[in-house]
Amino acid sequence: MKLRCPICGKTYDEPVQRCECGEPVEFEAFKAEPYLGKTVWERFWEFWPVEPAMELSLGEGDTPLVKSKLGKELGVRLYLKNETVNPTWSFKDRGTFLAVSYAARAGYKAIGTVSTGNMAASVAAYAARAGLKAKILVSESTSEEKLKAVSVYGADVIRVRGDYGRLYFESLKLGEKLGIYFINSDNPFRVEGYKGIAFEIAEELTPDYVLIPTSSGGLFRGIAKGLIELKESGLIEELPTLVAVQAEGCSPICRAFKEGRERIERFENPKTVAKAIANPYPPSGNAVLKLLREFGWKCTSVSDEEILEAQGELAKEGLFVQPASATGIAALKKLMERGETEEGAKVVSILTGSGLKTLHTVQTRGIKEYPPEKLGEVTI
Ligand SMILES: *Cc1c(COP(=O)(O)O)cnc(C)c1O
Ligand SMILES: [Zn+2]
Repeated sequence: MKLRCPICGKTYDEPVQRCECGEPVEFEAFKAEPYLGKTVWERFWEFWPVEPAMELSLGEGDTPLVKSKLGKELGVRLYLKNETVNPTWSFKDRGTFLAVSYAARAGYKAIGTVSTGNMAASVAAYAARAGLKAKILVSESTSEEKLKAVSVYGADVIRVRGDYGRLYFESLKLGEKLGIYFINSDNPFRVEGYKGIAFEIAEELTPDYVLIPTSSGGLFRGIAKGLIELKESGLIEELPTLVAVQAEGCSPICRAFKEGRERIERFENPKTVAKAIANPYPPSGNAVLKLLREFGWKCTSVSDEEILEAQGELAKEGLFVQPASATGIAALKKLMERGETEEGAKVVSILTGSGLKTLHTVQTRGIKEYPPEKLGEVTI
């Protein structure tokens, strides 16, 4: 299986982490038939660059696609891909599992990542599952609360002072030196694992739009690649319109796209409540921009106020997501207002991670107190 750079086109036979030109690499497109098995890993057996090590699975993937009542108000048929039910409560587990399948087979004794949130917990959990050591590099400012969700799995957490943005590349160098396989945000195996989201959606319906919260760009690239491979394999007829969604307070990809640039620029002073999508210099930014241009796709950014409102609306339907994961719904409202989405369109929004991880962003509401003798006064 060959790796290819989506920007300069150079190909590699070895599983390198990045192209010599500095951009991400990806596996060449798969062309295959689905296979009837139980899990998405088995059903789409021929679409993975490495054999999924099912003994290391924690049950990631095969998540519910829930029809949403919010669609009615907005005039579309809305479906929510609920990734909050993954083993560590975000879609990151899909990519981590496939990358760990590779690392364990390749004989690595340790894996690592650079993250402060969902990816750190995911890599720590799968390292524990596989009996590998985990080295998680976090920034100095990471809260104790977040570190608990990582260290509970027994990972070594390393706080790094200074420029956190440089850590992505520094970690790859360190990994090569020490024999640690770093599974960062757009690691090629990780991106492949995310294709499963596209496969599962296509098994259930043919969407017109897919809304994707976007930070590093790994998730967007994975869903796009999965859909493109299904089309090239003759399994779907049309590609939906993919929408990369960012927070206004950190939207380097949308900004570059709007300005018609081919390369992203660092977003200075990022500030948003949607911390999980606040990468100011996304390592797959240029690759996402290329996809947006090539397929005529969209990039939409939403404000913190719109994000929190959407988070509340999803909760009122019974789905508690973190702010980053509510951005798709906030973006859908904008697209409808601007007439960029037709009435009656089939729309899928990816609910990327659970709200229980960011409890500090929600207010307690509707709590009433009654002394026991007054409970009779409670009304329906
Ligand atoms: C990681 C993450 C994203 C964005 O994924 P990228 O691959 O970095 O673009 C979106 N939402 C949540 C909850 C995440 O953890
Ligand atoms: Zn390249």
